[in-house]
Amino acid sequence: MVDFTLNAKEQEVIREIRREGMVLREKYARYYDEHEKELPPDEFPEAKEFAHIDKMAADRGPDATTPTVFYLLMLMHRTWGDMMRLKVPVTALGNASVVAAGTDEQKKRWAKTRLSMANTEPGCGSDSKAIQTTAELDGNEWVLNGEKIFVTTGIRAEGCVVWATIDKSAGRGGIKAFVVMKGTPGFELVKKEEKMGIRSSDTAAFVLKNCRVPRENLLGMDDIVKKGGGGFKGLMKTFNLTRPGVAAMGIGNIMACQDFVAEAMAKEGITVDYEAGQHKRSAIQQKMIDLEAEMEAATLCTLRAAWLADQGKPNNLEASVSKQKGGDVSRRCAQLALEILGAMGITHDQLVEKWFRDARITDIYEGTGEIQRLVIARELLNYTAKELT
Ligand SMILES: Cc1cc2nc3c(=O)[nH]c(=O)nc-3n(C[C@H](O)[C@H](O)[C@H](O)COP(=O)(O)OP(=O)(O)OC[C@H]3O[C@@H](n4cnc5c(N)ncnc54)[C@H](O)[C@@H]3O)c2cc1C
Repeated sequence: MVDFTLNAKEQEVIREIRREGMVLREKYARYYDEHEKELPPDEFPEAKEFAHIDKMAADRGPDATTPTVFYLLMLMHRTWGDMMRLKVPVTALGNASVVAAGTDEQKKRWAKTRLSMANTEPGCGSDSKAIQTTAELDGNEWVLNGEKIFVTTGIRAEGCVVWATIDKSAGRGGIKAFVVMKGTPGFELVKKEEKMGIRSSDTAAFVLKNCRVPRENLLGMDDIVKKGGGGFKGLMKTFNLTRPGVAAMGIGNIMACQDFVAEAMAKEGITVDYEAGQHKRSAIQQKMIDLEAEMEAATLCTLRAAWLADQGKPNNLEASVSKQKGGDVSRRCAQLALEILGAMGITHDQLVEKWFRDARITDIYEGTGEIQRLVIARELLNYTAKELT
C-alpha cells in the first residue's frame, strides 16, 4: 500500500525547513532576483539558527540524491520559501549522475563534492543522443572537446559531470559521462546566463578545449566502455532520480502562491466554503479550489514516483508523469494566482510576479513537458525511443 506517512522526527525537520525557507525568503528572495550577477552565499547568517536541521536531514540515508518521499517533501517545503531554495544543497544534478552511472568507489569519492551536470549543447537539448562533445582516450587520460550550455550551478559547483561521445557512429551507445573538476586546463567558463526567472540560480556555459581528465573520471570506469552501451542509460537514470525533484520545486512555488492568494482573499472576506455546492460559490472561490486541487494532484504524482524509488521499484513512467504534471501545474497555477489577484499579482511590491516568472522553468529543464509526454506514451504503449520520437 502506498504510504506517505512521516515519523515525528521527519515532521519536525519539515516544519523547521519551511521556517528557514520563510526567513530566507523574507530577507533575500527579492534581493537575489534583482541582483542576478551576485551569487547567494553558501552560508546565510540567518541559516545558522537552522544548522541542526541539515544534520537531521542528512541522517535520512547515504544516498543524497535518491528522490525519497521525505527528501521531496523537504524540497517542497524549502522551495515554499523560494523556488531556488536560496541555500544550495551540498550536492547538485551531477551528483545524481554519479549515483546513476558511477561505480561504488566513484560514488564514495564524489559523495561530498558539489557537481553540476552538462548535457545540453547549442545543437542538442531535448534530443540527448545528438551530443557532439567528444572524448578520446589518450594514454591514461580522456581528452574532451565541445561546448556545453545552460549548466545549473555551473559557477558554484566544484566540478561538472560532462556527457560526451566516445564514438559518434555508435549513437546513444557512444555517450558516456566524465567528471571534470574546476580549474582543469581547457575547461573554460564562457558566461553566466541572465534569465527571466530563478535568477538566484547560476546557469553557466562552458567550452572544453583539449581538456584532459584522468581515465578514472569516466563514470562506470573502463568497464562501461568494454561492455558497450551503458552510458546513455545512466543519463536517463539520472533524470529518473531528479525529475520528481524538479516537480517538487515547482509545487513548493505553487504552495507559496496559494498561501498568498488565500491570505489576500481572506483580507477581502473571501474564503472557500468547501461544504457549499458548486452553484453557491463565486468564480474566485472556484478558482481557489482549482488551484488547491491541481496542487494536490501534482503532489500525489510526485510522491508516488518517490515512493516507488523508495521501494526499489522502477519509476520511469511515474518520474515523467510527476515532472509533466508538476511542470504543467506549476505554470498554470502561477497564472491562476495572477488571475485571482488581479493587479496586485503583478506589482513589484509582492513576490507573486517573481513566482510567476520562476514557475516557467519547471516545464523546461530536465526534459520539457512535451518530452515527458513522449516518455509517458512510450512507457504506456510499449514503444521504443526509435519507434516513437
Ligand atoms: C535555467 C535552465 C537551466 C538548465 N540546466 C541544465 C543543466 O543543469 N544541465 C543540462 O544539461 N541542461 C540544462 N538546461 C537545458 C534544458 O534541459 C533544455 O533547455 C531542455 O532540455 C530543452 O532543450 P532545448 O532548449 O534545446 O529545446 P529543444 O530541444 O530545441 O526544444 C524546443 C521545443 O521543441 C519541443 N520539442 C523538442 N523535441 C520534441 C519532440 N520530439 N516532440 C515534441 N516536442 C518536441 C520542446 O518541448 C520545446 O518546446 C537548462 C535550461 C535552462 C533554461
